[in-house]
Amino acid sequence: MLQKRKNTFLFIVALLLGLLFLVIIFFNSHQKLTEVDFLDVGQGDAALIKIAKGKTILIDGGPDNLVLKRLGENLPFFKRKIDLVILSHSHDDHVIGLLEILYRYKIDTIIYVDDVNKTEFLAELLKEARVRGVNLINLKNEAKINYSASCSLFLLNPAALSVSEDDNNSIVVKLDCDGLRAIFSGDNSLAVEKALLATGYDWSVEIMKASHHGSKTSNGEAFLRAVKPKIFVISAGANNRFNHPHEEVLDRVKSLNIDIKRTDIEGTIKVFGASKS
Ligand SMILES: [Zn+2]
Repeated sequence: MLQKRKNTFLFIVALLLGLLFLVIIFFNSHQKLTEVDFLDVGQGDAALIKIAKGKTILIDGGPDNLVLKRLGENLPFFKRKIDLVILSHSHDDHVIGLLEILYRYKIDTIIYVDDVNKTEFLAELLKEARVRGVNLINLKNEAKINYSASCSLFLLNPAALSVSEDDNNSIVVKLDCDGLRAIFSGDNSLAVEKALLATGYDWSVEIMKASHHGSKTSNGEAFLRAVKPKIFVISAGANNRFNHPHEEVLDRVKSLNIDIKRTDIEGTIKVFGASKS
C-alpha cells in the first residue's frame, strides 16, 4: 500500500516537472522581437519574418525542400502554422519549396502574382492550396497589411506600374515593423527599380535583400541610393552557375559603405527589430 502511494507521488511529481519543462520551452520560444531570417536555401530565395508576439510570414520557398530543414531550425518545434506566404514570382528558385511546406504547415493565405511565367508547378501549388482551404490572393496592384500601429507590410506588383512584362518581375515587399525596416524585391531588374523610384514612395530601409541574388541586371546605384540600406543581404548558392552575386554589384554596394551579408558564405542571416514594450 505504502509502495503504491510512493509510486503515485513520484508519478505526479514527474508529471508536474514535465509540464513545467514544456511551459518553460513555450515561453522561451515565444517571439520577443520582430525578426527576419534570410534562410540559407542554396541558389534561391526564402525569407522568414517573425513578428513580435504575432504573425509568421514567409516570402518565397527556395528551389527545393531544403527550406523545410531551415524552417525547422528557425521556428519552435510546435509551430506548424505560417500565417502568410508571399510568392514574389513563380521561378523555380522561389516556388519549388512551397509545395512541401503546404503539405506540412497550416497556411492561412498565399499572395501571388499571375505572372508571365505561369508554370505548371504554380498551377499545382494553387490547386493543392485550394483543396486545403488556403485564402488565395492574386495581387494585381498594391496592398498594405497593418499588424499593429507600429507594424505593417506593403506589397506592390510591378505590373501596376506599367513596366514591360519581364519574367523576373516580382512582388516588392516593404516591411516596417517595430524598428525593423526591410525591402524584398524578388528578382526585379533595373527597369522595375526605375519604375519604383518614379512612384515617389519612400523605399528607404535599413535592410535590403539583394534583388535577383546580386545580379548586375538589378541593384542599380539610383535604387541603392534611394533605399539607403545599412545591410545588403545576398541570398545565393555557393559556387552557383549564374555567378551570383556579380562583382560589379559587390563593388557598387561597398563604395556606398553598405555592409554585405551572404547566405552562401554565412548561412542563414538573422536581423532583429527593437524591443517592444
Ligand atoms: Zn531568383
